Amino acid sequence: MHELSLVASIVDAVTESVSAYPGARVKEVRLRVGALAAVIEESLQFCYGIATEDTPLQGSALIVTVVPVGGHCPSCARDVEIASLQSFRCPLCCGPVENVRQGRELEIESIEIEDAEETVQS
Ligand SMILES: [Zn+2]
Repeated sequence: MHELSLVASIVDAVTESVSAYPGARVKEVRLRVGALAAVIEESLQFCYGIATEDTPLQGSALIVTVVPVGGHCPSCARDVEIASLQSFRCPLCCGPVENVRQGRELEIESIEIEDAEETVQS
């Protein structure tokens, strides 16, 4: 259940970010998760509910955006999006895709604080 440790590090990072705003409560946290990061969203949400108790994040929403996996197809000479994680093949020519990127990231995109106009970009 690696979601719990992931969530713990997210909570730490967000708590650190909002420490500049004393008394602020976090309303929403947006997370970008790569399709290859092997994170189950329901599990992430469940852990989030537990890990945010008694923190400035308590009661906040976790919004997860799954980032598709992409790479470069040398045959087509263009960047392509990979539909299946089972094989890294170009959807256009079925050739092997190089430089596979996007897919393993797990990063905080933005944090929204209650009663504040500004959004903290990380
Ligand atoms: Zn191709």
